[in-house]
Amino acid sequence: MRVCPFGDYEPDETSLAAELFEGDTTTNHEVLGRYRSLRVARVADPAVLASSASGGAVTWLLQRLFERDEIDSALCVKAFDGELAVDRMYGYAVLRSIPEIQDASSSAYYPVTLADVIEELSHGTDRVAVVGLPCFIKAIRRLQKVSPALKERTIFCIGLACGQSKSVMFTDFIAGVARSEAGPPNGVRYRFKPSEGDAGDFSFKFEWADGGVGSLRWTQGIGDAWSLRLFTPRACGFCDDVFAETADVCTMDAWTHPWRADHRGTSFVIARAAYVEGLFAEGHGLDLNELVDQAVVVRSQSSVVRDKSAGVAVRSRIHRCDYLRVPLKRPLRLATASAVEALRWRMADNARAVSAGSWMRRCSTRDVRSATRVSRWVVGTSRWLELLIVRMRSAAGNAVRFCIRGKRA
Ligand SMILES: Cc1cc2nc3c(=O)[nH]c(=O)nc-3n(C[C@H](O)[C@H](O)[C@H](O)COP(=O)(O)OP(=O)(O)OC[C@H]3O[C@@H](n4cnc5c(N)ncnc54)[C@H](O)[C@@H]3O)c2cc1C
Ligand code: SF4
Repeated sequence: MRVCPFGDYEPDETSLAAELFEGDTTTNHEVLGRYRSLRVARVADPAVLASSASGGAVTWLLQRLFERDEIDSALCVKAFDGELAVDRMYGYAVLRSIPEIQDASSSAYYPVTLADVIEELSHGTDRVAVVGLPCFIKAIRRLQKVSPALKERTIFCIGLACGQSKSVMFTDFIAGVARSEAGPPNGVRYRFKPSEGDAGDFSFKFEWADGGVGSLRWTQGIGDAWSLRLFTPRACGFCDDVFAETADVCTMDAWTHPWRADHRGTSFVIARAAYVEGLFAEGHGLDLNELVDQAVVVRSQSSVVRDKSAGVAVRSRIHRCDYLRVPLKRPLRLATASAVEALRWRMADNARAVSAGSWMRRCSTRDVRSATRVSRWVVGTSRWLELLIVRMRSAAGNAVRFCIRGKRA
């Protein structure tokens, strides 16, 4: 319990980061956390870039750590094959070479557990780098506090920005959209990059036991299911760390103008630890490596930031009203939601619960879609309304400014 990232006790992300990076970092931002630099980066090796999730920053960094003999192994998530794949398609593994690291690149929208590698973490002798979502890195930081030996060997924590994760049911559901009523697949790859245009329109590719294959693009239904929070674990609704604030470095998709238009993929990188910042500043093997403004990075994740501040506040209120226990969150991270936003999160939370419940009752893809139809409609309409309100406010502001200028003239 002492290391659970949702445990209601200190240290939270803010105090862990203060302890880790106080003397090291130059900026302390309200949502990005402590950092030394913000960069936009893309790896030069075309093979690494093609197989990576975004700009290949994580794979590049692990490669550099191996080349400089800083680590003996990396704990990464990879697709399981052979006997291991019968029960689970993805999981953590101990990787000890650069080809293994490259093979494990890309994203897994699949539940994973550090229990797969805890033996190595607790009793191994390797110097280790761990790649993980913000909650996993927080758990490791808490573990480091109770185990000095583990702290000594876990040399680098590499974080991935995160808006939500997904249960296994999500993969089975999307596979059902790709190939109607085909049943759960026995293989999936989550991020095949498009051959041109928008980097965000990547594909999931599936394989079934009967030899059938199928694929689906983000804009063909995955994006809808993602933003409606279908099959998202309940815990993610009470998480306020977008940017892995306790990791030595955090990487994410640079899905904003002008990089989003480049189908090859690009990463934003938040460097917190001095050593990692030094490697990026040197930039050996990077094709693109430029400093960016913090407003650009925050804007690129604005919907996730809003969800993990105002959204968390709304969900906490709803669950407390239903007499459900919710974890305590950092008060400064919570924000007030407008009525339209609050309705959107309420409906998305409803769709989340309905999707999991229906799937567990063995409902079909079509049943889940019809059970969440109202939520989908409300969420879509409220987004549209919010956009309209923003546009109207800005038009009204421009009109007032125009009148004032006219009067002065
Ligand atoms: C569940 C999830 C949610 C995410 N949400 C967002 C988001 O909201 N916004 C955003 O900008 N980015 C998000 N990301 C991060 C983003 O998709 C990329 O993973 C990140 O930009 C790294 O890209 P890269 O090209 O540098 O990584 P690569 O060079 O491709 O390396 C990726 C590394 O991540 C490891 N990995 C893959 N899946 C997992 C996993 N589930 N848990 C732990 N390690 C894993 C791989 O083993 C590999 O080492 C999310 C990632 C995941 C897995
Ligand atoms: S949203 Fe938070 S709790 Fe959920 S997987 Fe991401 S970091 Fe973990």
